Amino acid sequence: MDDLSRFCCQNEKCADFGKRGTGQLSVCDHYGPRQQRRMLYCLTCKSRFSERKGTALFGCHLPEEKIQKVFAHLQEGCGVRKTSRLVGVTANTVVRLSAKAGQHARQTHDELVAFSPADPRAAVR
Ligand SMILES: [Zn+2]
Repeated sequence: MDDLSRFCCQNEKCADFGKRGTGQLSVCDHYGPRQQRRMLYCLTCKSRFSERKGTALFGCHLPEEKIQKVFAHLQEGCGVRKTSRLVGVTANTVVRLSAKAGQHARQTHDELVAFSPADPRAAVR
């Protein structure tokens, strides 16, 4: 049995959109290279979507290993050109992946951090 607790429905019109661990998702198909990627099915709204939808990997045709290398280099502070040379992808690919990952990280932050504590430095000004 696949653990789908980290996934949520990606259909914005669904009553369970964005809710994790509700148990309404199941694996209905596999696709992609060597059938490694899962298609998920939402019991609530009857929609199907890729397990990669809503992630920085969605729609990316590069091998996952290469994408992970791009993120690893960026995380270590390598610039766009350095990363593109080291991984063997174009600079535009690095920029695109970086922007997608940043957007995803922001959404995750906004979901997981209900509110930020008041910044004590703000009162000083
Ligand atoms: Zn749904």
